[in-house]
Amino acid sequence: MNPEDNISLLNAKESQKINEIYLRKLKSSNSENMVPVLRNIHLVVFQSTDCLSCANCCKTTPALITRQDVKRIARFLQIPASQFFKLYVITDFDGEMMMKNVPCVFLDQENKCTIYEVRPESCRRYPHTDEKEYPQRISLNIANTTICPAAAIILERLKKAIPLSV
Ligand code: SF4
Ligand code: SF4
Repeated sequence: MNPEDNISLLNAKESQKINEIYLRKLKSSNSENMVPVLRNIHLVVFQSTDCLSCANCCKTTPALITRQDVKRIARFLQIPASQFFKLYVITDFDGEMMMKNVPCVFLDQENKCTIYEVRPESCRRYPHTDEKEYPQRISLNIANTTICPAAAIILERLKKAIPLSV
């Protein structure tokens, strides 16, 4: 991870409380222009984000996985879905399925995903900063800003673009 990314994550960790208050206000504000503004910020930030120099999500967070993901990835790996399940997946007490290991076993030495074309839907969508449900997911967004430098920068830019007194 480059030094600027580390600074973004540190700032996000220090600003957790204030960010939480901001996101709560954003949620209740029902701001009409929130989604287009957010999507534009997401686009701009990811244009200058080098995920291959980071991979912090793959290194620190077990990816959520669905039955469709399991079938698709198992087919790609040419193994039975039951074998994939046994080798790579755990189910938590809520019945939610996730990858067993962090760093993810499919991350290679160059920070590349070796199952990129068929990766879990949750990996494809991470860090969910271009989704209309963004203001509803306060805890998830706060958690993501401490893992993903891009999510931290996006939230900082959103706070400037849609200022709400906190
Ligand atoms: S499946 Fe690929 S994108 Fe998802 S956590 Fe593993 S290495 Fe990262
Ligand atoms: S999505 Fe975020 S945490 Fe994952 S590699 Fe890209 S910048 Fe890093």
